[in-house]
Amino acid sequence: MSVTTENQVKKIDLWINGERVAPASQQYFIDHNPEDDSVFAEVADGDESDVDRAVQSAHLAFQSYRKTLAKEREVYLIKAASLVEKYEDKFIELLVKEVGSPIGKARYEVAYAANCLRAAAGVARRISGQTLPSDSLGRFAMTTRQPIGVVAAITPFNVPLLKSAKLSSSPLATGNTVVLLPSEQAPMISNLLADIYHEAGFPPGTVNVVTGNGAVIGDALTTHDLVKAVMFTGSSRVGKHIGGLCGSRMKRALLELGGKSPLVILDDADLDAAVEAAAMSQFFFQGQACMASSRIYVDKKVEQEFLRRFVKKAESLGLGDLYDESTSVGPIISARQRERVRHHIEDARAKGAKVLTGGEWIGHRCKPTILSGVNESMVVYHEETFGPVTSVYSFTNLDEAIAQANDSNYGLSSAIFTQDINKAFRFVQEVESGMVHVNAPTILDEPHVPFGGVKDSGFGREGTDIDVETLTEWKWVTINLN
Ligand code: NAD
Repeated sequence: MSVTTENQVKKIDLWINGERVAPASQQYFIDHNPEDDSVFAEVADGDESDVDRAVQSAHLAFQSYRKTLAKEREVYLIKAASLVEKYEDKFIELLVKEVGSPIGKARYEVAYAANCLRAAAGVARRISGQTLPSDSLGRFAMTTRQPIGVVAAITPFNVPLLKSAKLSSSPLATGNTVVLLPSEQAPMISNLLADIYHEAGFPPGTVNVVTGNGAVIGDALTTHDLVKAVMFTGSSRVGKHIGGLCGSRMKRALLELGGKSPLVILDDADLDAAVEAAAMSQFFFQGQACMASSRIYVDKKVEQEFLRRFVKKAESLGLGDLYDESTSVGPIISARQRERVRHHIEDARAKGAKVLTGGEWIGHRCKPTILSGVNESMVVYHEETFGPVTSVYSFTNLDEAIAQANDSNYGLSSAIFTQDINKAFRFVQEVESGMVHVNAPTILDEPHVPFGGVKDSGFGREGTDIDVETLTEWKWVTINLN
């Protein structure tokens, strides 16, 4: 392993063609520990020429990797899954110190990544074509699928291992090669995954990692002629920009973006279960989750009782040492993000919202915050906060609840708590979101499901099975037989 995790400042180069190489600029940027903004690592500050080197390496590797047998790709991915588990402690240390993950969230990501790599391994043998009827006598018709080439995988800071594993394993399972651009706030984690792919036997150049400022080098990657698809997870702002660049160049783009997911609680709901789900969905990883329940709608009849229990639950969540199992709320990732969270709370308070609990900070941690009396004039009503802040609204009937849930530019996940299957199913059918859960949290993810959102939350779906559509090209083949 070239990514060391001892207690010293680490320095990491680019990963191109199976080697650590210095960036062309010879410059390194600082990767901070969000707990106190201390220096965690020095990371290669790649430029456009480095992006080109990485893409050329992936393109060269593609010429032979595309011909590998499904059973070979399956072996590599299964080995990589076992190595993720073997190096669990290294990943946990990075997830805790590089992005401020509480230990439970760090463990979840490691388990998910291993699970995801195994799910992708299973896909390699299922990349099948069809035989088709032909309108001409004596013509045999079939379809085959072929890998498309170099895939750019661009990942966010909040679930850096989960997303690096998800966005690289499907391209590798389908015979494509990868250039990974991780968030500049979580570069070490993706680099450790690249080391693991190497140890698992993936040939040099099949996985490359370019680090640097995404806002500076992202366009060079997205628009590179040899990049055939971009799999992006991040903010809606950057996703729309990438979608535009890809659209005008006839490139495939898979965009997994932000959210403002509604959790609806009807008057017949199991309130304890709803409170657990609301707390988990909104305060998991201090609210830095795309599927966070940042809008909670409660039937007026049970609103006060729900709020009493929800406030009590929020106040019980641990803000201690990140290695302590009882800690669920850690630091917010960066000064800019902390400012955003503060602004959302203060803007709401200034315009008349009530802070039922929270709104205070301990170091870089914001206490779980519950707002009521939020209205359309407030920033938090519309925008994704990406912090431990949620707003509770009330309604008097299901129509009103559905209308409020749909009153957002986002549409990633959603959930409803009720004992009434008819009401639950109406919500399932009418809510404008890519994912909907009944009597469950808004945060749910499994490797093989079609994961994604509508409206500003994304374009397309990711998941080991549906990724085969995104990452292979159909070819219709005919043979005239005598
Ligand atoms: P971000 O958009 O700031 O950055 C995401 C990635 O894009 C980073 O790797 C960054 O370097 C890169 N980037 C920046 N400018 C670019 C450009 N011009 N071209 C190409 N790449 C560029 O997002 P973030 O702050 O890292 O992550 C938080 C956001 O991600 C939130 O909005 C969250 O909801 C979303 N997210 C969505 C999902 C999902 O599956 N829908 C999952 C996790 C996070």
